[in-house]
Amino acid sequence: MEQEAVKVAELLKAKPYTIVLTGAGISVESGIPTFRDRDGLWRKYEPSKLATPEAFKANPKLVWEWYAWRMNTIAKAEPNDAHKVLASMEERGMVRAVVTQNVDGLHQRAGSSNVIELHGSIWSARCVSCGWTTTFTAPPEVVPPRCPMCGGLLRPGVIWFGEPLPERAWAMAYEEASRAEMMLVVGTSAIVYPAAHLPYVAKSMGAKIIEVNPEPTPLTPHADISVRAKAAAFMGLVARNLSLPL
Ligand code: NAD
Ligand code: ZN
Repeated sequence: MEQEAVKVAELLKAKPYTIVLTGAGISVESGIPTFRDRDGLWRKYEPSKLATPEAFKANPKLVWEWYAWRMNTIAKAEPNDAHKVLASMEERGMVRAVVTQNVDGLHQRAGSSNVIELHGSIWSARCVSCGWTTTFTAPPEVVPPRCPMCGGLLRPGVIWFGEPLPERAWAMAYEEASRAEMMLVVGTSAIVYPAAHLPYVAKSMGAKIIEVNPEPTPLTPHADISVRAKAAAFMGLVARNLSLPL
């Protein structure tokens, strides 16, 4: 891991146009489980089966209970060194954009400003009847929450499995991937499409691909450097090699 951190730091020093793609893995060290982790309370439910339009239609209360529980976990969590290092790199022009599949808002809380949220935000919601949108700062007290405009059901402002990505976010992410000379892919299983397509877009335009994940993924054989490491530990080492404060 040490050698790879030195190498990645060397590459970053030349300030190539670098963008980052992150997934649930980058927030694991902040205490936010991925969908693949099994959490006691929700053990009998498959998260990937709750994050669907069908699940919401069948049982909006259950889906909202799960989101309210996740909002609680996320509200208590703090950005970790991986989020912080990326923010610090952006400040120094070493990172141009963070494209994230996460809905937890931890990149923004760490100080990243150019964050493209491909899967929406857990802090937003919209009315399924009239389209009214709102943001939460705490989980709703009554679930499912109702629209104050028309009384319709509010739904979480996240993109569920089987739903298209927000057009603007996707267009921006695609453009960034096309421009990138280097792409850091941190904490994503690289299997949820279309987000997982972005490293291939970048690579086809000549970008170097650096992957950070404790497990190999389908992207691993296509990466220029693939590091088997946890995000916070590895990004912390890269920062040290760049003499960046955390
Ligand atoms: P995912 O597909 O992004 O996979 C998680 C990846 O993180 C895995 O490959 C795992 O090996 C890796 N990982 C685990 N610990 C890590 C660490 N310490 N450092 C670096 N990598 C680590 O995520 P998923 O759980 O399959 O979720 C699918 C969808 O749900 C995605 O859109 C995802 O972003 C979203 N989701 C978001 C959050 C969040 O906002 N924090 C949490 C759960 C799921
Ligand atoms: Zn409404």
